[in-house]
Amino acid sequence: MKKKRIFAFLLMSILLLSCCGCSATSSGLSMLNRKKITELTHKGETYWANYQEKQEIGEATNVVEYQKPLSYVLQYPKTGHAAVDARIEGIVTEIRNAFDQEYTPADGPTGETKRSQKTEATLYLGYEAYLTDNDHMSLVFFETHETGNTVSPHTRIQIFHFDLSEDTELIAEDLMWTDFAKNASVYSQKYFTTTEPYNKSIFGNYKTLLAPDAGRFDRFAFTTEGVLFYFDRYDLFPGSFGIVSLTIPYEDMQTKIEEPEEKAAAPTQTSSKKMVALTYDDGPNPVATNAILDTLEKYNAKATFFDLGYLVEKYPDVVKREAALGCEVGSHSYDHKNFNKMTSAEIAADIQKTAAIFQKVLGKEPTVFRPPYGACDENVKKLIPMPIYLWSVDTLDWKSRDAKAVMDVIKSSGDLDGKVILMHGIYGSTAEATAELVPYLQKQGYELVTVSELIQAKHGETPQNSKIYGYSYFR
Ligand code: ZN
Repeated sequence: MKKKRIFAFLLMSILLLSCCGCSATSSGLSMLNRKKITELTHKGETYWANYQEKQEIGEATNVVEYQKPLSYVLQYPKTGHAAVDARIEGIVTEIRNAFDQEYTPADGPTGETKRSQKTEATLYLGYEAYLTDNDHMSLVFFETHETGNTVSPHTRIQIFHFDLSEDTELIAEDLMWTDFAKNASVYSQKYFTTTEPYNKSIFGNYKTLLAPDAGRFDRFAFTTEGVLFYFDRYDLFPGSFGIVSLTIPYEDMQTKIEEPEEKAAAPTQTSSKKMVALTYDDGPNPVATNAILDTLEKYNAKATFFDLGYLVEKYPDVVKREAALGCEVGSHSYDHKNFNKMTSAEIAADIQKTAAIFQKVLGKEPTVFRPPYGACDENVKKLIPMPIYLWSVDTLDWKSRDAKAVMDVIKSSGDLDGKVILMHGIYGSTAEATAELVPYLQKQGYELVTVSELIQAKHGETPQNSKIYGYSYFR
């Protein structure tokens, strides 16, 4: 209380002084700033200390800015890799802008999370940075907002991946190998239900919360010890647990873990024919996609394309050809943003915008959806007016950029009946792999069908809107 009054007094004297417009004004202001900045710096140092031990790479850059009503106490790394550093600065700017927007009075009725009046708030940003043997850097940002009227500040985690030797950013979706989410699901369920103090407090519906396709395993860091996952406050445990992290050793993420076999329900009318669905994301691309379509046409095979709205607009002829060959053309959002990080209004706008482009190009709106990064939490799920298709075999084609490596993944994946294979329709190497893959699969007796056809034929199910079809479904 007392502090507030002193603060108000200082502020008033500055306002009064400023009427004179003389040098005393600036000296009064800078005195206040200095005091406030020192206070914020102390707080920042305490906050950053939480993460210091886990900053394996990069020099920490500290920023402390006091700007009424919004202040910034930020720490982020500089790695010495130009493109990576530029991207990191871009991320920090994005976080800052989002914070500014959140605490700036809304001018319309849409801003449900925005404040109705000016709030004083401080953004604290700290980070952990992990480095693995193969120059992979995982950057974990912890973001806390402190406001005058909030007692417990909320913390948000965002994770970014970089290949330092290539000086590029990587996307999490592409780093997840076959059974990644499935193995993480099995391990985490076992760990949290058998380890104190977690086993006594875990929420009763943990099986659903930790299901492979529940969207909790796409946020991770690679460390020298294993894959590090973070669970938000209230994700699995009461709030007093705060953020919970769990490192799963690589061998447990890679080898198949015994899973208690739950007896499958009696099969409805399903096809005994061997079927597999090829899927291609992130296109269309006039060169690679057309080469893929050449192969599909030659062998009279079908696939599913999850196209980006802005590319559909740019290359309408390629998309029309996909549809003309009987392929399923689904939406992969307008421009590959992470839906888990968007507001309901932003998601609705993205879906609408993309649907309008499909309507213009194909004469109908998309009827199936694959979320960018496979990111689709419980809230997002409800907002998608289409069936949501993930995959069950990841070829890692984006990573190897090598047709033979893609074929090797396929050949080592065992029985592919009922599986959905993830590829990206934008690489020459993937087109090359397709030319070999399609006749290979047909020779093995597989029929190449769309994802919707596969669900209908193999599960006797009509795909439902807002339902996720993922690893556990296409097993
Ligand atoms: Zn994608």
